[in-house]
Amino acid sequence: MNKPPTCPICKKLLVGEGVLQSEFFPFCSERCRHIDLFRWSEGKYAIVEPLTELPDTLPPPADDDVE
Ligand SMILES: [Zn+2]
Repeated sequence: MNKPPTCPICKKLLVGEGVLQSEFFPFCSERCRHIDLFRWSEGKYAIVEPLTELPDTLPPPADDDVE
C-alpha cells in the first residue's frame, strides 16, 4: 500500500494527473516550493554564520597601493 504523497509544506494531498511529473513535485505548487527553499536557506545560513545583515559601511580592504 503506497501512502499518497503529500506536500511537505502544506500537507495537501498530491493527487491528480501529472502531479508526480510536476515541476513543483514533491510540493503542490511553486509557492510551497519557495517556502521550502526559503526555510532551507535560512537554516543553512544560520548554521554557517549569520551573514544576513552585512553592514554596508565596512571600509574597503586595505589596498597596497604604494606609489
Ligand atoms: Zn503545498
